[in-house]
Amino acid sequence: MTIDAAALLDGFRHSWIDGAPWVARGEGIPSINPATGLDQGLIDDGGGQAADIAVMAARDAFNGGWGRLRSAERSGHLLAWAERIAANIDQLAWLETLEVGRPITDARALVSQGPGLVRYCASLIGDLAVRADGVARRPRGVVGAITPWNFPVANVLVRAAPILAAGNCLVLKPSELSPRSAVLLGQLASEAGLPAGVFNVVLGRGDTTGAALAAHSDVDMITFTGSTQTGRAIAQTAASLRLKPVALECGGKSAQIVAQDMIDEDEIWPAIFWSAFWNTGQWCASRSRLLVPSGKLHRAVAGLAAAAEAWRVGDPSDPTTALGPLASSRQHRTVAGYRETARAASAHLVLPCPLGMLDPRGFFVCPELILNPGADAPVWREETFGPLLAVQEYADIDEAVGLAEASDYGLASTLWTADRNLAEAVAERLTVGSVDVMTTPQAKPGLGSGGYFEPRKQSGYGVDGGFQGMAAYTAPQAITYVS
Ligand code: NAD
Repeated sequence: MTIDAAALLDGFRHSWIDGAPWVARGEGIPSINPATGLDQGLIDDGGGQAADIAVMAARDAFNGGWGRLRSAERSGHLLAWAERIAANIDQLAWLETLEVGRPITDARALVSQGPGLVRYCASLIGDLAVRADGVARRPRGVVGAITPWNFPVANVLVRAAPILAAGNCLVLKPSELSPRSAVLLGQLASEAGLPAGVFNVVLGRGDTTGAALAAHSDVDMITFTGSTQTGRAIAQTAASLRLKPVALECGGKSAQIVAQDMIDEDEIWPAIFWSAFWNTGQWCASRSRLLVPSGKLHRAVAGLAAAAEAWRVGDPSDPTTALGPLASSRQHRTVAGYRETARAASAHLVLPCPLGMLDPRGFFVCPELILNPGADAPVWREETFGPLLAVQEYADIDEAVGLAEASDYGLASTLWTADRNLAEAVAERLTVGSVDVMTTPQAKPGLGSGGYFEPRKQSGYGVDGGFQGMAAYTAPQAITYVS
């Protein structure tokens, strides 16, 4: 290890409010290293008090003029922040590895995209200020954001960058499993010269700090990323004291359909493996359901087993590790529950994985295929958030669409076909926010094209991504000159 882990963990365990650390009284929340099961100190639980003070600081900063800054000035602040983030990639990546077990090489790669996202949002500020049809876009004011642990830095930046760029002040509550990188991002914003109170980070549990922030009567909008169950609670809490807009990005159970014209191509399997197992399956849009034409199950099994050779499960601090442990003992228990239920009902295949050589106290799980579980199986319908891929055969494309739709979630889908007419017809029938069409066997999956979308069904609501996603953090104001 090239860093002083103890110092890093100790440095970012308090909230960051009004440009300074804010230390909570009372019992902290234990932080556990998922690769070793070992205790790595306490982080603060700020509760309602932290939320109150942070919202007050954000309100003062908003009234102080952040939202009225000229575009170039606000953009300059964000560009300076991007520079500070770029200079601290290693610390941010190590915090992800220590807190949630993300493999260090993968963490560095994703965290390195952070400055680009902040610069992109900075570049849109001028466009946001342009009036169309006499309508001006006004910042909403104080926005509360509540985020999950699966990609700690990305989850924070994907909210913070557009919210701040749109002229709002922010109070962000990161997951209690992964709060430290959020605190570092807040600190870097202050170092970059963002006025105190513009970006505050409050630490704590969901039912203490999170609920207090969602309910707060001086918060103008809540944006939430996390499970559907929590999203439902937040939508209710947010409306308890005053009406405020809520955007929810919740769970997923995304399907991947391989059409007849692609199933015999060997080159499709590395991308299919990645999209199902990346981040040990802990990805909202992980393609955790695979549909293959009848009689072709053996192609999926052989292709995925071969692809698994390139994805070594191991210690996340080892730069050659591709898949780390699950992020928590709770997640480990949840995945084990789905796995045992699925194994009792269906055939399964554990992919190559050196589990016996890993720390038995860590939350490691091998990638596994569940074969033809059927549309009613929990592993087919529910989010497992772990390395379980349900593979199901379909008789024709109508059945494939029906199987893909057999879930309450509506986040994303992938279709492998070179036939664009087929792709359009299938996409039209899928109730999901985004569809990737892989038109060649060599197509590389990615994290979206910079476009925008809205989740469907129980995956939430609210436009996300791109210019439209940023515009959603403003309110349209019609200005009519009457003579
Ligand atoms: P979670 O719902 O348990 O927690 C998310 C956040 O909500 C955390 O900060 C938590 O402390 C907070 N919270 C919990 N209870 C709360 C309450 N009563 N009031 C206010 N806040 C509360 O989710 P998780 O386990 O952290 O993350 C995994 C989930 O996130 C998965 O379902 C995954 O699909 C989803 N996710 C969705 C997206 C997306 O863009 N759609 C992205 C990443 C993760």
